[in-house]
Amino acid sequence: MARKRKQNWPRIVARLQRRVAAGDVAATTDLGLNLLDGIQDRSGRCLLRRNSRYAVRLLRRAAESNDPTATGSLGYAYDVGRGIAQNKTEALRWYRRAVRLGDSSAASNASTVYRDRGQLPRAHRWMMRAAAMGDGDAAGDAGYSYLYGIGVRRNIHSARLMLGRALRSRNISGYGREEALYNLAIAHVDSGHPSLAIPFLERACTDGDYPEAAALLAQIRAKSALTPCRCRRFINRRLRGHARCVQHPSE
Ligand SMILES: [Zn+2]
Repeated sequence: MARKRKQNWPRIVARLQRRVAAGDVAATTDLGLNLLDGIQDRSGRCLLRRNSRYAVRLLRRAAESNDPTATGSLGYAYDVGRGIAQNKTEALRWYRRAVRLGDSSAASNASTVYRDRGQLPRAHRWMMRAAAMGDGDAAGDAGYSYLYGIGVRRNIHSARLMLGRALRSRNISGYGREEALYNLAIAHVDSGHPSLAIPFLERACTDGDYPEAAALLAQIRAKSALTPCRCRRFINRRLRGHARCVQHPSE
């Protein structure tokens, strides 16, 4: 459920409803997005009750008018089964259409569908497409795939290029930036230059929420054997698309 500051939601919704009735596509998308999950305030109090089925009808109407956000969001509704029965084939169909309309998160979401199916080369191609559309998190993910040869031939040079692109992107999450720093450090370790990894690891664990980066930094400083975690960060390790990791071999 989205969290918003206190606003007069009944008035906002009434205004959106009038614009929807007048055929306004942007308002149809807005109302659909608000109703898909509902709105709650910071304390978790419900400000706008969700109505996912109606939301999906609105998103479909806006998607049929080629609104990129509505098209990608309709794909997501099918992807996770919200307001409509889950259907990955339909999800991919709407994601592809959203990508053609310029929605980079749809390319990244399509990549995830393929990755979970074990179609790793296709997952990599869609991640590269999202990266080419400016998605920094996708660039970081593509860098990880090059680093370990997941769905693409292993290539440290390409890994560095994509991770560097992730770090330069303005469109990247905080944890995605830290993960790109960590993987750049791993690229240096694997190239036999662990001391070059130090500044990246220092930046990756500045806010103290990245134990894997802190552990590798301590190993390098102590000149002990290096056993970095090679899993993808924050992603269930039982899902496909992870590198082999000595720290988490059975997961
Ligand atoms: Zn691991």
